[in-house]
Amino acid sequence: MTTTDRIANFGAGPAALPESVLRQAQKDIWNIQGSGIGILEHSHRGSLFDRILTEAEAEIRSLAAVPDNYKVLFIQGGASTQFTMVPMNLLAKGRSADYLITGAWSKKAIKEAKLFGEARVALSGEDSKFTAIPPADTAVYSQDACYVHVTTNNTIFGTQWKSEPPVPADVPLIADASSDIFSRPIDVSRYGMIYAGAQKNLGPSGIVLVLIRDDLVEQGPKDLPTMFQYRTFANERSLYNTPPTFAIYMVGEVVKWIRDAGGLTAMAERNEEKAGLLYDFLDQSAFYTGTADTGSRSLMNVCFRSPSAEHDTAFVKAAGSRGLEGLKGHRSAGGMRASIYNACRREDVVSLVEFMKEFEREHS
Ligand code: PMP
Repeated sequence: MTTTDRIANFGAGPAALPESVLRQAQKDIWNIQGSGIGILEHSHRGSLFDRILTEAEAEIRSLAAVPDNYKVLFIQGGASTQFTMVPMNLLAKGRSADYLITGAWSKKAIKEAKLFGEARVALSGEDSKFTAIPPADTAVYSQDACYVHVTTNNTIFGTQWKSEPPVPADVPLIADASSDIFSRPIDVSRYGMIYAGAQKNLGPSGIVLVLIRDDLVEQGPKDLPTMFQYRTFANERSLYNTPPTFAIYMVGEVVKWIRDAGGLTAMAERNEEKAGLLYDFLDQSAFYTGTADTGSRSLMNVCFRSPSAEHDTAFVKAAGSRGLEGLKGHRSAGGMRASIYNACRREDVVSLVEFMKEFEREHS
């Protein structure tokens, strides 16, 4: 396979991964580190996998300056399982949790919380059809909240919190950062817990990276099913059962790739530049409309429309025939969405803008 065998993938997730990581993985699937056994076939109890897990954790700690009183956990079941595990462990009986509702994923998160206790909407962008993140100071927090839950980037509507919402003192902020984890510097100490499904910025789907403060690990009831307690993953280094070894390997490799590319500050610069190419073009176009409010625009998912649904369909089809894939907007939002996560290359964004210009000329 050469680079030219591959096309530009703007899919929202599972999403494009760095080329060098994929090439290394190809080799390691066959025979990793000269062991004569591929990564998929190594025991999770063996020393080789132990090193991979230890290194992945160490790289994550170093990349995001994760404080010592936080655990780095790898949990299965995707980010959706965290919608359940968070309230199961942290929504104490007789207390409540506050949710900042900025899109479809936050709505799914609060729906699960309501199964376990009182979950309140502290802020909602639903009136604007989630095209904007409401001002953080309009949030109304409960007196007795166990935590505040935020979705840092709204994958479907292409909006993103620019900074952490200020929450009442001593109330842990819990973030679903599935679609913007490690795309910019992050101050982990501002959060009680951060979780992210890996399939956008970190690796394969199905695995979730969880960064959680020690006191929150301990807060979870001890009579929960074993696999639903953060304690189980914390005490057993994510090795209570057979973990998704290949996924952990991939996350480790992707994090090393981020490190080698200059770390989180460099990622932020690259991502700002890539998103800027698209937003600058959208802003001067009379044909396309960016759907997110200017102040809430995501650097990860750029959502836009053409003058009609028919044009949108034609756009996605024509783009596909030019090797620009994954541009159809989410079924609930319509239009187009270019997901330009860390591994999306600048040259692919340039090709997309060129194509957009051409399509505009032909159809206006
Ligand atoms: N949260 C966000 C912000 C997402 O974008 C997604 C998936 N696109 C999810 C949660 C759900 O993740 P999973 O499919 O891994 O359960």
